[in-house]
Amino acid sequence: MCITPPNNDPCLQPPRQLRATVIPSPVKRGPRVRPRWIECAFIRLSAPPRRLISTYSRVGHARSSYILFHHSALHTAAVGPPGRASVFCRRAGCQGSAKPRPVSPVSPYPAGSGRSPALRDVRPGPPKRSIYDAGGSEILPGKLVREESEPASGDQSADEAYDGLGHTHRLFADIFGRNSIDGEGLPLDATVHFGKLYDNAFWDGHQMVFGDGDGEVFERFTRSLSVIGHELTHGVTQYSAGLAYRNQAGAINESMSDVFGALVEQYLNSQSVTDASWLIGEGLFTPQVQGSALRSLKAPGTAYDDDVLGKDPQPDSMDSYVRTSADNGGVHINSGIPNRAFYLTAETLGGNAWEAPGRIWYDALTGGSLPATATFRVFATATAASAVGLYGNDSPEHDAVRQAWETVKVKL
Ligand SMILES: [Zn+2]
Repeated sequence: MCITPPNNDPCLQPPRQLRATVIPSPVKRGPRVRPRWIECAFIRLSAPPRRLISTYSRVGHARSSYILFHHSALHTAAVGPPGRASVFCRRAGCQGSAKPRPVSPVSPYPAGSGRSPALRDVRPGPPKRSIYDAGGSEILPGKLVREESEPASGDQSADEAYDGLGHTHRLFADIFGRNSIDGEGLPLDATVHFGKLYDNAFWDGHQMVFGDGDGEVFERFTRSLSVIGHELTHGVTQYSAGLAYRNQAGAINESMSDVFGALVEQYLNSQSVTDASWLIGEGLFTPQVQGSALRSLKAPGTAYDDDVLGKDPQPDSMDSYVRTSADNGGVHINSGIPNRAFYLTAETLGGNAWEAPGRIWYDALTGGSLPATATFRVFATATAASAVGLYGNDSPEHDAVRQAWETVKVKL
């Protein structure tokens, strides 16, 4: 997901306004085809796609007539079948024709507020949740359907979103003493029923947005608590280390979201390291898809292997690091490496992963010394330093962290 550190990469600047969408809708169903997976691409459409997986769309890129689609939970867009949709994908090398549609200007996306003040002494407050219903439109935030402390709305997605925001808030508050996403009690807003058959969930820098899924590949996105935790953690990163969303820093950014997304689920269900699935997005795939989830922290590269989606591309160590310009430099691919480092740390220490492993990772993320352009090595060193700071030099925690990074072949 595209979170928006303050730089000029359009991929990092999703729009607040989504009204000028160019996505044709409603999208018609048809036989399954192999989509072309793209990431943060400039797309020009000459015909309605049969199916467009994902998107938030930034239209009217200043120096081109292209339309920028970016996307989060899967962080991928797919268009198909060939011949029905024309795609120009600058980064992934796919091709297509173009007939730009009129677009509206996009407001500059507000940058994150940077590092938070020291938060550990702040007593977290209760969540302040508001759930909106976009009613199938792509207009945010939509109609307010449930506010904090109100009873269930009766809408499954709205109520799942409400609960998911609460569970995520509780992990950060109870375990890490963090007062909401920004550390300062940020109200948690979410919009459900966004778009038509919309295959995504994302944090747009201000709020959560959930699609209903296409029913063919994806179920509704509120189904997965780890995805809700993942996306909200992008907000935590935005307000703490502000990691760039590119290359290794971007993969760390993604990994942080997977780590804390998994922990939200584990904390809610009181799962130990060995009880937990370590999957992100379990339950999102329809039964037609050969796959259990979007990603696995325990065994990167094994979450799915499907004739339409392809195989989970994540490496599990630097030996299989993927050098690519696609996916912002492989942010959703190489995140498998730090993901596994976290899992291995937790596996070695046993017990509950939100305790020592979570505290170490959280300290590295929010401690103020992690640069926005951190490499894996810099991040690994930061986690080792946090382990020493929290538990002492050569403590079991410190040893577990060092051993984990060694196993995934990241040198400290
Ligand atoms: Zn993400």
